[in-house]
Formats: sequence, structure tokens, C-alpha cells
Amino acid sequence: MKTFVAILLLLSIGLVSCQEKKETPNDVQTPETVVPEVITHDEYSGTEPTKPQETEFYEPKVPKVGPGNNGKIPSDAIVLFDGSTLDGWISSRDSTAAKWHLNKDGSMTVADKTGNIQTKQNFGDIQLHIEWRSPAEVQREGQNRGNSGVFLNGIYEVQVLDNNDNDTYVNGQVGSIYKQRSPMAMASVPSGEWNTYDIVYHAPEFNATGGKIKSGTLTVFHNGVLLHDHVEIKGTTPYIGWPKNPSHGKGPLMLQDHGDNSRVSYRNIWVREL
Ligand code: MG
Repeated sequence: MKTFVAILLLLSIGLVSCQEKKETPNDVQTPETVVPEVITHDEYSGTEPTKPQETEFYEPKVPKVGPGNNGKIPSDAIVLFDGSTLDGWISSRDSTAAKWHLNKDGSMTVADKTGNIQTKQNFGDIQLHIEWRSPAEVQREGQNRGNSGVFLNGIYEVQVLDNNDNDTYVNGQVGSIYKQRSPMAMASVPSGEWNTYDIVYHAPEFNATGGKIKSGTLTVFHNGVLLHDHVEIKGTTPYIGWPKNPSHGKGPLMLQDHGDNSRVSYRNIWVREL
């Protein structure tokens, strides 16, 4: 009996010592902590690679986004106008409800002299998709034919104009950064048909005292044709005067009522924040 107890005792001590041994921190093989690193894949320094794998990266993963072509909206886009309501928009004059016409075909049309409208939501850097149409039945000439505008950050205008057989100053023609930069092409469809603008906007940056430390940029496609290739925004786009550079943060997307019964319509407006 004594022998049996002694064996049990020895076994239990051995078991405890084994467990203790397993729990000894010094013996635990912990994997080396790996801190994720932002890999830019564009720093070509150090020893020249000799294997293909040395220049192939698998992290960080690229986010999957549903496609935004062929009339589809990217899965991560913010829809600003889908034809069902003007609820996301207000009058730029007095912040009351937007008074433009909501049409049965899923578009909206400038209501003459009701003023510009703008999104309730503010944005900084964005990818913007917007479709616009000038009336099939043309009226007037020059800047007074189908004039509207897409204002990034509420202050930088990409011109909307019916330029078909309708000359005007080139830095104010359709697709211009108004009075600042002519487009590289005139890519309008016939009056009365739908145009698309696809725009990439990067906002300028300002220091604490309001000085501009980095210019904004614009890239603009009109019906798939490149008009502006990451060009510098010089400042605001006034009708009269030089561009100005007031300090600002995020701002709305604004659409122009030119005040001359332009009857320009818009539809399918969405942005992706960058
Ligand atoms: Mg305009």
C-alpha cells in the first residue's frame, strides 16, 4: 500500500512539474511579432533584386469594389441623385429645399432663377460621376446657350455649356475650368443627348493662417475623353477677376443656375470619397 501511494505521489509530482515546465515562459516558443508595414512598392533602393519574388507583394490587400461602368454605380459610391428625390440638395442662396424640377425620367432640370443648388453633404477629395443634358431645342448664342456648371468644393467650376456650333471664349467653353484652363478637346454629344463628366478632384491644402500650401487638382473626362490631366487649380473661377485662394475645408457639390432659362438637366450623380 505504501509503495502504491509513493508511486501515485511521484506520478502527481511529475505531472505537476511537466505542466509547470510547459508554462515556463522561457520555454514557450512564441512567434516573432510582425508589425504590418505600409508597402508603397515604389521605393527602389538597397541591393538589386535577383529573384522575381523580391519585387512581388501580397499585402496590403486591395479592397474589392463593384464596378461603376455600363450604367452601374460602384458598390462604395455615395449616391447624390438617383432621380427619386431632391432631398439631398438645398438652395445655395438660403439653404431652403432645392427648387429645381424633378422629372419623371429620373433627371432634374434647372428651375430658372431659383439659384444654384448644392448637396447637404460636404466632401473633400472625390471621384465624381455626373450626367448632364442641354435642351434639344437650342436658344441663344455663346455663354447663354445651355450654360450651367459643376462646382467642386462649391467654388471651382467645370463648365457645362451647349457648345455645338456655338463658339465662345475657349477658357469658358464646355469642359473648361472656367476662365482658368481650356479643355484639351471638345467632346460633346449633340444638343438634347446625355453627356457624362467623370472627375477626380483633390482639394487644396491650407496652413493654420489660411495660406495655401498645396494646390488642388482636377482630372476631367467628358464622354470618356480626357479634358484635364491632373491639372493644378489656380484658385476660384470667377466671371470677373483673377482666381482667389480663400482657405476652406470640405465643401458641397454645387450645380449652377445660370439665370437665363438654360433648361440644363442632370441625372445619375454619385461620388466616391478618396
Ligand atoms: Mg457655367
